[in-house]
Amino acid sequence: MISIDEVRIFEVIEKRKPLSVALNGPEALFPKMQETGNKIMKLFDIPAYIIGDTCWGSCDINTHAADMLGADLLFNIGHTISMETIDKKVIMINAYDDVNFDIVVEKYANDRANQKYKILGIITDSQHLHQLQPSRKILENHGFKTVIGDGKGQLNDGQVFGCEFYPAYDIQNRVDAYIFLGQSMFHSVSIAMSTEKPTFMLDPYFNEFQQVNDKARVMEKKTILSIYKAQEATKIGIIIGLKEGQFSKIKALKFKKSLELLGKDIQLIALTEITEERLRNFKGIDAYIQVACPRIAIDNHFTKPVLSVPQAEALIKVLKNEPMDDFLKLRHWL
Ligand code: SF4
Repeated sequence: MISIDEVRIFEVIEKRKPLSVALNGPEALFPKMQETGNKIMKLFDIPAYIIGDTCWGSCDINTHAADMLGADLLFNIGHTISMETIDKKVIMINAYDDVNFDIVVEKYANDRANQKYKILGIITDSQHLHQLQPSRKILENHGFKTVIGDGKGQLNDGQVFGCEFYPAYDIQNRVDAYIFLGQSMFHSVSIAMSTEKPTFMLDPYFNEFQQVNDKARVMEKKTILSIYKAQEATKIGIIIGLKEGQFSKIKALKFKKSLELLGKDIQLIALTEITEERLRNFKGIDAYIQVACPRIAIDNHFTKPVLSVPQAEALIKVLKNEPMDDFLKLRHWL
């Protein structure tokens, strides 16, 4: 069960005495956030607004909504990062899952097929960071060596985001395989794609583990196919995401310049939610590059090719008749 660090929320409210607050976080946490919002209103007698828009990561803060509401503080829930605040108004609040990994880690360790991977990199997402050390202990008791990569930027030790993998990428020459703690294909395939090492997802809810490299290869093929389709495009729409932490106008203008020099016609577009439905409104565009969240292009299905930043870099190389190289084998996909 996921629990929000309400103690910290209440401490901050006690100290800063806001006249109103807003809460945002991933949709899966909305019911918990509703409970927390109700407690705030009852305990402190101030309005607590739940922002019901999507919030995919610590890059997707939505201070604009908090400003519109006149909220003095915005609690961003469930995107544990190494910083406690983003600016004075935004407070990062942890949400931890208390599910236990002991059974699934034991199961992995006892599987004879896994014994060939002797040195394991242990990685997880925000909700399971507290499980890194207990899981490491179990694996070491079974004779495995383990490495937890150092955090960098917003990432804690052993933590990855959907587009940022420093603690996994930087230890790839020191490990035989990765184990990802959590039921998240989203995170585990990206570790496999950015390192191309054997990667196992350990699911504590079903107490099952699975290797995800085949799934990663399928996704990678899809990303390559989109690049080749975009190569044929006459007109390319370059989309600037309007979410605060994903805003990248300079990069969009850089792509515009490079692609125009390569003979492409460019349309600049600004969008908050980049979806198939929104893109259908545009006419005469053969392919898109979006410089917001890379996972929008990599994970979703679009009728026309939609490329993320590393795919767009690869497209430029292809248009120059250069090899596209391992364009996803990076620490960071932005
Ligand atoms: S840009 Fe996308 S993948 Fe990266 S942290 Fe934000 S929501 Fe997650």
